[in-house]
Amino acid sequence: MAEAVGPKKFAATAVMKEIMDRYFNRLMGPGAEGNNIAYCTSVGPAELLIALGFEVYYPENYGAMLGSSRMATDMIPLANARGYSPDICSYLTSDIGSYLKGEGPFRKMGFAGPPKADVLVYNTNQCRDVKDWFEFYGREWEVPCVGIHTPRAVGDVDGAIIDTVSRQTEALVKPLEAAAGRRLDMDRFKEVIALSRACTELWKAVLLTAANHPAPLSFFDGTIHMGPAVVLRGTQDAVDYYNVLLPELRKRIADGVGAVDGEKYRIYWEGMPIWGKLKNLAVQFIELKTAVVASTYCNSWIFEDLDPDNPFDGMARAYTNIFICRDDRWKEEYIRRMFRTFNVDGILYHNAKTCPNNSNSSYSMPQRLQEKTGKPFVIIDGDLNDLRCYSEEQSRTNIEAFVEQLSQ
Ligand code: SF4
Repeated sequence: MAEAVGPKKFAATAVMKEIMDRYFNRLMGPGAEGNNIAYCTSVGPAELLIALGFEVYYPENYGAMLGSSRMATDMIPLANARGYSPDICSYLTSDIGSYLKGEGPFRKMGFAGPPKADVLVYNTNQCRDVKDWFEFYGREWEVPCVGIHTPRAVGDVDGAIIDTVSRQTEALVKPLEAAAGRRLDMDRFKEVIALSRACTELWKAVLLTAANHPAPLSFFDGTIHMGPAVVLRGTQDAVDYYNVLLPELRKRIADGVGAVDGEKYRIYWEGMPIWGKLKNLAVQFIELKTAVVASTYCNSWIFEDLDPDNPFDGMARAYTNIFICRDDRWKEEYIRRMFRTFNVDGILYHNAKTCPNNSNSSYSMPQRLQEKTGKPFVIIDGDLNDLRCYSEEQSRTNIEAFVEQLSQ
Protein backbone atom coordinates (compact mmCIF):
# COMPACT_ATOMS: atom_id res chain seq x y z
CA MET A 1 0.00 0.00 0.00
CA ALA A 2 1.38 3.45 -0.90
CA GLU A 3 2.39 5.60 2.09
CA ALA A 4 0.08 8.56 2.73
CA VAL A 5 1.59 11.94 1.81
CA GLY A 6 1.97 14.20 4.84
CA PRO A 7 4.34 16.55 6.64
CA LYS A 8 7.53 14.90 7.95
CA LYS A 9 7.78 14.41 11.68
CA PHE A 10 10.34 16.12 13.90
CA ALA A 11 11.96 14.27 16.82
CA ALA A 12 11.90 17.59 18.73
CA THR A 13 8.09 17.49 18.81
CA ALA A 14 8.21 15.10 21.80
CA VAL A 15 10.21 17.70 23.74
CA MET A 16 7.74 20.41 22.78
CA LYS A 17 4.86 18.28 23.99
CA GLU A 18 6.56 17.84 27.36
CA ILE A 19 7.16 21.55 27.92
CA MET A 20 3.69 22.51 26.68
CA ASP A 21 2.15 19.93 29.04
CA ARG A 22 4.13 21.43 31.93
CA TYR A 23 2.90 24.89 30.91
CA PHE A 24 -0.75 23.83 30.75
CA ASN A 25 -0.41 22.09 34.10
CA ARG A 26 0.96 25.25 35.71
CA LEU A 27 -2.16 27.02 34.42
CA MET A 28 -4.84 24.40 34.97
CA GLY A 29 -3.33 21.28 36.52
CA PRO A 30 -3.64 20.04 40.09
CA GLY A 31 -0.80 22.28 41.33
CA ALA A 32 -2.16 25.42 39.66
CA GLU A 33 -4.38 26.47 42.53
CA GLY A 34 -3.02 29.58 44.14
CA ASN A 35 -1.04 30.60 41.02
CA ASN A 36 -1.68 34.15 39.90
CA ILE A 37 -2.99 34.06 36.34
CA ALA A 38 -2.62 36.92 33.88
CA TYR A 39 -4.28 36.88 30.48
CA CYS A 40 -2.02 38.51 27.90
CA THR A 41 -2.48 39.30 24.21
CA SER A 42 -0.05 37.50 21.94
CA VAL A 43 2.15 40.56 21.48
CA GLY A 44 1.41 42.06 24.88
CA PRO A 45 3.85 42.85 27.72
CA ALA A 46 4.45 39.21 28.71
CA GLU A 47 7.91 39.84 30.15
CA LEU A 48 6.53 42.26 32.74
CA LEU A 49 3.90 39.72 33.79
CA ILE A 50 6.38 36.86 34.13
CA ALA A 51 8.72 39.07 36.16
CA LEU A 52 5.83 39.79 38.52
CA GLY A 53 5.34 36.07 39.08
CA PHE A 54 2.18 35.59 36.99
CA GLU A 55 1.50 32.44 35.01
CA VAL A 56 0.72 33.94 31.62
CA TYR A 57 -2.20 32.62 29.56
CA TYR A 58 -2.77 33.63 25.93
CA PRO A 59 -6.39 33.37 24.76
CA GLU A 60 -5.25 33.67 21.13
CA ASN A 61 -3.35 30.41 21.52
CA TYR A 62 -6.54 28.81 22.77
CA GLY A 63 -8.33 30.42 19.80
CA ALA A 64 -5.88 28.65 17.49
CA MET A 65 -6.58 25.36 19.32
CA LEU A 66 -10.30 25.87 18.78
CA GLY A 67 -9.55 26.45 15.10
CA SER A 68 -7.21 23.46 14.64
CA SER A 69 -9.62 21.13 16.40
CA ARG A 70 -12.42 22.51 14.17
CA MET A 71 -14.50 23.15 17.28
CA ALA A 72 -14.59 26.88 16.56
CA THR A 73 -17.48 26.77 14.12
CA ASP A 74 -19.77 25.27 16.79
CA MET A 75 -18.76 27.88 19.38
CA ILE A 76 -19.00 31.07 17.31
CA PRO A 77 -22.84 31.24 17.20
CA LEU A 78 -23.01 31.41 21.03
CA ALA A 79 -20.89 34.55 21.03
CA ASN A 80 -22.94 35.94 18.13
CA ALA A 81 -26.07 35.48 20.23
CA ARG A 82 -24.42 37.59 22.96
CA GLY A 83 -23.93 40.43 20.48
CA TYR A 84 -20.42 39.68 19.19
CA SER A 85 -20.86 39.95 15.43
CA PRO A 86 -19.89 37.11 13.05
CA ASP A 87 -17.81 39.74 11.20
CA ILE A 88 -15.35 40.38 14.05
CA CYS A 89 -12.32 38.33 15.10
CA SER A 90 -13.21 34.64 15.09
CA TYR A 91 -10.62 33.95 17.81
CA LEU A 92 -12.71 36.22 19.99
CA THR A 93 -16.05 34.73 19.00
CA SER A 94 -14.86 31.11 19.21
CA ASP A 95 -13.18 31.69 22.59
CA ILE A 96 -16.15 33.50 24.14
CA GLY A 97 -18.46 30.92 22.58
CA SER A 98 -16.38 28.14 24.13
CA TYR A 99 -16.59 29.86 27.52
CA LEU A 100 -20.37 30.23 27.21
CA LYS A 101 -20.79 26.63 26.10
CA GLY A 102 -18.40 25.24 28.72
CA GLU A 103 -16.71 23.08 26.08
CA GLY A 104 -13.40 23.10 24.26
CA PRO A 105 -10.10 21.34 23.59
CA PHE A 106 -8.85 21.70 27.20
CA ARG A 107 -11.73 19.50 28.34
CA LYS A 108 -10.46 16.80 26.01
CA MET A 109 -7.00 17.16 27.60
CA GLY A 110 -8.46 16.49 31.04
CA PHE A 111 -8.60 20.09 32.29
CA ALA A 112 -11.78 21.79 33.47
CA GLY A 113 -11.27 24.58 30.94
CA PRO A 114 -9.19 27.72 30.53
CA PRO A 115 -7.99 29.23 33.81
CA LYS A 116 -9.82 32.17 35.34
CA ALA A 117 -7.82 35.40 35.16
CA ASP A 118 -6.69 37.50 38.12
CA VAL A 119 -5.85 40.29 35.70
CA LEU A 120 -6.20 40.85 31.94
CA VAL A 121 -3.52 42.75 30.02
CA TYR A 122 -3.75 43.78 26.36
CA ASN A 123 -1.84 45.79 23.80
CA THR A 124 -3.86 47.22 20.89
CA ASN A 125 -0.76 47.08 18.64
CA GLN A 126 -2.47 44.26 16.71
CA CYS A 127 -6.14 45.30 16.71
CA ARG A 128 -8.96 46.75 18.80
CA ASP A 129 -10.63 43.36 19.13
CA VAL A 130 -8.24 42.19 21.84
CA LYS A 131 -9.38 44.97 24.17
CA ASP A 132 -13.08 44.19 23.60
CA TRP A 133 -12.32 40.51 24.10
CA PHE A 134 -10.50 40.99 27.42
CA GLU A 135 -13.10 43.45 28.66
CA PHE A 136 -15.72 40.72 28.31
CA TYR A 137 -13.84 38.63 30.91
CA GLY A 138 -13.08 41.71 33.01
CA ARG A 139 -16.84 42.27 33.38
CA GLU A 140 -17.60 38.59 33.75
CA TRP A 141 -15.14 37.97 36.60
CA GLU A 142 -14.91 41.52 37.96
CA VAL A 143 -11.12 41.56 37.64
CA PRO A 144 -8.91 44.42 36.40
CA CYS A 145 -8.47 44.78 32.65
CA VAL A 146 -5.56 47.09 31.78
CA GLY A 147 -3.54 47.73 28.67
CA ILE A 148 -1.41 49.68 26.27
CA HIS A 149 -2.88 51.69 23.41
CA THR A 150 -0.35 51.67 20.61
CA PRO A 151 -0.82 53.79 17.46
CA ARG A 152 -1.41 51.65 14.38
CA ALA A 153 -0.40 51.87 10.68
CA VAL A 154 2.86 53.35 11.94
CA GLY A 155 5.43 54.57 9.38
CA ASP A 156 8.59 55.41 11.31
CA VAL A 157 8.75 54.08 14.84
CA ASP A 158 10.10 57.36 16.17
CA GLY A 159 11.04 58.63 19.62
CA ALA A 160 7.59 60.11 20.30
CA ILE A 161 5.87 56.77 19.70
CA ILE A 162 8.39 54.84 21.78
CA ASP A 163 7.98 57.37 24.54
CA THR A 164 4.19 57.04 24.71
CA VAL A 165 4.22 53.22 24.54
CA SER A 166 7.06 52.94 27.03
CA ARG A 167 5.31 55.25 29.52
CA GLN A 168 2.08 53.31 29.18
CA THR A 169 3.97 50.07 29.86
CA GLU A 170 5.59 51.59 32.95
CA ALA A 171 2.20 52.85 34.14
CA LEU A 172 1.00 49.23 34.23
CA VAL A 173 3.49 48.35 36.96
CA LYS A 174 1.42 49.76 39.82
CA PRO A 175 -1.90 48.02 39.04
CA LEU A 176 -0.05 44.81 38.18
CA GLU A 177 1.91 44.90 41.43
CA ALA A 178 -1.41 45.26 43.23
CA ALA A 179 -2.84 42.24 41.35
CA ALA A 180 0.33 40.21 41.91
CA GLY A 181 0.67 41.17 45.57
CA ARG A 182 4.39 41.82 45.14
CA ARG A 183 6.80 44.51 43.93
CA LEU A 184 8.53 44.36 40.57
CA ASP A 185 12.12 43.19 40.95
CA MET A 186 14.05 44.97 38.19
CA ASP A 187 16.80 42.33 38.13
CA ARG A 188 14.25 39.60 37.54
CA PHE A 189 12.56 41.76 34.87
CA LYS A 190 15.86 42.15 33.02
CA GLU A 191 16.53 38.43 33.32
CA VAL A 192 13.11 37.63 31.78
CA ILE A 193 13.75 40.06 28.92
CA ALA A 194 17.13 38.44 28.30
CA LEU A 195 15.40 35.02 28.09
CA SER A 196 12.78 36.42 25.72
CA ARG A 197 15.51 37.92 23.57
CA ALA A 198 17.39 34.60 23.51
CA CYS A 199 14.16 32.86 22.44
CA THR A 200 13.67 35.41 19.65
CA GLU A 201 17.16 34.87 18.31
CA LEU A 202 16.74 31.11 18.28
CA TRP A 203 13.28 31.28 16.72
CA LYS A 204 14.62 33.57 13.99
CA ALA A 205 17.45 31.11 13.34
CA VAL A 206 14.88 28.28 13.10
CA LEU A 207 12.84 30.17 10.50
CA LEU A 208 15.93 31.20 8.56
CA THR A 209 16.87 27.57 7.97
CA ALA A 210 14.07 27.61 5.37
CA ALA A 211 16.22 29.92 3.22
CA ASN A 212 18.10 26.75 2.25
CA HIS A 213 17.23 24.70 -0.84
CA PRO A 214 15.39 22.49 -0.14
CA ALA A 215 13.80 24.19 2.87
CA PRO A 216 13.97 21.88 5.90
CA LEU A 217 10.75 23.27 7.35
CA SER A 218 7.63 24.82 5.94
CA PHE A 219 5.15 27.42 7.10
CA PHE A 220 2.90 24.55 8.22
CA ASP A 221 5.65 23.12 10.44
CA GLY A 222 6.32 26.64 11.72
CA THR A 223 2.74 27.12 12.90
CA ILE A 224 3.22 24.13 15.22
CA HIS A 225 6.78 24.75 16.40
CA MET A 226 6.12 28.42 17.14
CA GLY A 227 4.10 27.38 20.23
CA PRO A 228 6.91 27.92 22.77
CA ALA A 229 7.93 31.25 21.15
CA VAL A 230 4.34 32.45 21.56
CA VAL A 231 3.36 31.20 25.02
CA LEU A 232 6.70 30.59 26.74
CA ARG A 233 8.89 33.47 25.61
CA GLY A 234 10.64 34.87 28.67
CA THR A 235 11.22 31.37 30.09
CA GLN A 236 14.14 28.93 29.99
CA ASP A 237 11.83 26.23 28.58
CA ALA A 238 11.38 28.11 25.30
CA VAL A 239 15.13 28.65 24.93
CA ASP A 240 15.81 24.98 25.68
CA TYR A 241 13.25 23.89 23.10
CA TYR A 242 14.75 25.83 20.21
CA ASN A 243 18.18 24.57 21.21
CA VAL A 244 16.79 21.10 20.47
CA LEU A 245 14.87 21.96 17.28
CA LEU A 246 17.61 24.00 15.61
CA PRO A 247 20.24 21.21 15.47
CA GLU A 248 17.59 18.89 14.02
CA LEU A 249 16.92 21.38 11.25
CA ARG A 250 20.65 21.83 10.62
CA LYS A 251 21.01 18.08 10.33
CA ARG A 252 18.21 18.06 7.74
CA ILE A 253 20.11 20.74 5.81
CA ALA A 254 23.36 18.76 5.98
CA ASP A 255 21.53 15.64 4.78
CA GLY A 256 19.70 17.51 2.00
CA VAL A 257 16.30 16.69 3.54
CA GLY A 258 13.50 19.09 2.64
CA ALA A 259 10.04 19.51 4.10
CA VAL A 260 8.80 18.87 0.55
CA ASP A 261 10.45 16.06 -1.39
CA GLY A 262 11.54 17.17 -4.84
CA GLU A 263 10.91 20.85 -3.97
CA LYS A 264 10.31 22.71 -7.24
CA TYR A 265 8.68 26.00 -6.20
CA ARG A 266 8.90 28.21 -3.16
CA ILE A 267 6.19 30.56 -2.00
CA TYR A 268 5.51 33.07 0.78
CA TRP A 269 2.34 32.93 2.92
CA GLU A 270 0.94 36.33 3.83
CA GLY A 271 -1.77 36.50 6.47
CA MET A 272 -3.25 34.25 9.12
CA PRO A 273 -3.15 30.45 9.01
CA ILE A 274 -6.43 28.67 8.22
CA TRP A 275 -6.16 26.58 11.37
CA GLY A 276 -8.83 23.99 10.58
CA LYS A 277 -7.30 23.23 7.17
CA LEU A 278 -3.56 23.31 7.84
CA LYS A 279 -3.07 19.59 7.31
CA ASN A 280 -5.05 19.55 4.04
CA LEU A 281 -3.15 22.55 2.73
CA ALA A 282 0.21 21.11 3.79
CA VAL A 283 -0.59 17.92 1.90
CA GLN A 284 -1.75 19.80 -1.20
CA PHE A 285 1.49 21.79 -1.33
CA ILE A 286 3.59 18.64 -0.83
CA GLU A 287 1.76 17.05 -3.76
CA LEU A 288 2.42 20.14 -5.85
CA LYS A 289 6.15 19.98 -4.93
CA THR A 290 5.81 23.49 -3.56
CA ALA A 291 7.37 24.58 -0.29
CA VAL A 292 5.74 27.41 1.62
CA VAL A 293 9.10 28.60 2.90
CA ALA A 294 8.28 31.77 4.82
CA SER A 295 5.39 33.74 6.24
CA THR A 296 4.59 37.00 7.91
CA TYR A 297 2.75 35.11 10.63
CA CYS A 298 5.57 32.91 11.95
CA ASN A 299 8.01 35.81 11.76
CA SER A 300 5.74 37.97 13.89
CA TRP A 301 7.23 36.50 17.07
CA ILE A 302 10.71 37.88 16.42
CA PHE A 303 11.34 40.77 18.81
CA GLU A 304 14.90 41.88 18.21
CA ASP A 305 14.50 45.20 19.98
CA LEU A 306 14.06 43.64 23.40
CA ASP A 307 16.89 45.02 25.51
CA PRO A 308 17.62 43.81 29.06
CA ASP A 309 19.54 47.05 29.74
CA ASN A 310 16.59 49.18 28.72
CA PRO A 311 13.51 47.10 29.57
CA PHE A 312 10.63 49.53 29.02
CA ASP A 313 11.91 51.31 25.92
CA GLY A 314 13.09 48.02 24.43
CA MET A 315 9.67 46.44 24.94
CA ALA A 316 7.97 49.51 23.48
CA ARG A 317 10.17 49.34 20.39
CA ALA A 318 9.87 45.56 20.01
CA TYR A 319 6.08 45.51 20.29
CA THR A 320 5.54 48.53 18.03
CA ASN A 321 7.95 47.38 15.35
CA ILE A 322 5.79 44.34 14.54
CA PHE A 323 4.49 43.93 11.00
CA ILE A 324 0.78 44.19 11.86
CA CYS A 325 1.33 47.59 13.49
CA ARG A 326 3.06 49.18 10.47
CA ASP A 327 1.91 51.06 7.36
CA ASP A 328 1.72 49.53 3.88
CA ARG A 329 4.91 51.14 2.66
CA TRP A 330 6.87 49.49 5.48
CA LYS A 331 5.07 46.19 4.99
CA GLU A 332 5.89 46.11 1.29
CA GLU A 333 9.59 46.71 1.98
CA TYR A 334 9.50 43.95 4.58
CA ILE A 335 7.94 41.46 2.17
CA ARG A 336 10.45 42.37 -0.54
CA ARG A 337 13.27 41.63 1.91
CA MET A 338 11.62 38.30 2.70
CA PHE A 339 11.36 37.49 -1.02
CA ARG A 340 15.10 37.99 -1.36
CA THR A 341 16.08 36.14 1.83
CA PHE A 342 13.95 33.09 1.08
CA ASN A 343 14.22 33.23 -2.69
CA VAL A 344 10.50 32.79 -3.32
CA ASP A 345 8.75 32.36 -6.68
CA GLY A 346 5.41 33.84 -5.66
CA ILE A 347 3.15 34.87 -2.81
CA LEU A 348 -0.18 33.67 -1.43
CA TYR A 349 -2.36 36.20 0.40
CA HIS A 350 -4.88 34.79 2.81
CA ASN A 351 -7.75 37.23 3.00
CA ALA A 352 -9.18 36.31 6.42
CA LYS A 353 -12.79 37.44 6.59
CA THR A 354 -12.79 38.20 10.33
CA CYS A 355 -9.28 39.62 10.58
CA PRO A 356 -8.79 42.60 8.28
CA ASN A 357 -5.91 43.55 10.60
CA ASN A 358 -3.87 40.60 9.41
CA SER A 359 -5.07 40.58 5.79
CA ASN A 360 -3.19 42.68 3.29
CA SER A 361 -4.81 42.03 -0.06
CA SER A 362 -7.61 44.61 0.01
CA TYR A 363 -5.70 47.84 -0.64
CA SER A 364 -3.79 46.88 -3.80
CA MET A 365 -0.65 45.61 -2.08
CA PRO A 366 -0.54 42.42 -4.22
CA GLN A 367 -0.67 44.45 -7.43
CA ARG A 368 1.96 46.95 -6.25
CA LEU A 369 4.32 44.23 -5.10
CA GLN A 370 3.90 42.28 -8.31
CA GLU A 371 4.74 45.37 -10.32
CA LYS A 372 7.90 45.98 -8.29
CA THR A 373 9.14 42.41 -7.99
CA GLY A 374 7.63 40.52 -10.91
CA LYS A 375 6.48 37.80 -8.47
CA PRO A 376 2.97 36.47 -9.15
CA PHE A 377 0.36 36.28 -6.41
CA VAL A 378 -2.83 34.45 -5.54
CA ILE A 379 -5.50 35.53 -3.07
CA ILE A 380 -7.33 32.88 -1.03
CA ASP A 381 -10.53 33.94 0.72
CA GLY A 382 -10.98 32.22 4.05
CA ASP A 383 -10.66 32.73 7.74
CA LEU A 384 -8.48 31.78 10.67
CA ASN A 385 -11.25 29.92 12.53
CA ASP A 386 -14.62 30.38 10.87
CA LEU A 387 -14.64 27.69 8.21
CA ARG A 388 -18.00 28.94 6.93
CA CYS A 389 -15.93 31.64 5.20
CA TYR A 390 -13.70 29.13 3.41
CA SER A 391 -14.42 27.15 0.27
CA GLU A 392 -11.98 24.26 0.17
CA GLU A 393 -12.81 23.33 -3.38
CA GLN A 394 -12.33 26.84 -4.71
CA SER A 395 -9.08 27.31 -2.80
CA ARG A 396 -7.65 24.02 -4.01
CA THR A 397 -8.41 25.01 -7.61
CA ASN A 398 -6.91 28.47 -7.17
CA ILE A 399 -3.75 27.07 -5.58
CA GLU A 400 -3.36 24.48 -8.33
CA ALA A 401 -3.75 27.17 -11.01
CA PHE A 402 -1.24 29.37 -9.18
CA VAL A 403 1.43 26.65 -9.04
CA GLU A 404 0.76 25.91 -12.71
CA GLN A 405 1.41 29.60 -13.38
CA LEU A 406 4.73 29.34 -11.46
CA SER A 407 5.77 26.45 -13.64
CA GLN A 408 5.43 28.63 -16.72
S1 SF4 B 1 -5.14 40.41 14.98
FE1 SF4 B 1 -6.88 39.46 14.00
S2 SF4 B 1 -6.89 37.34 14.67
FE2 SF4 B 1 -5.56 38.49 16.05
S3 SF4 B 1 -6.87 39.05 17.75
FE3 SF4 B 1 -6.89 40.77 16.31
S4 SF4 B 1 -8.64 40.43 14.94
FE4 SF4 B 1 -8.20 38.51 16.06
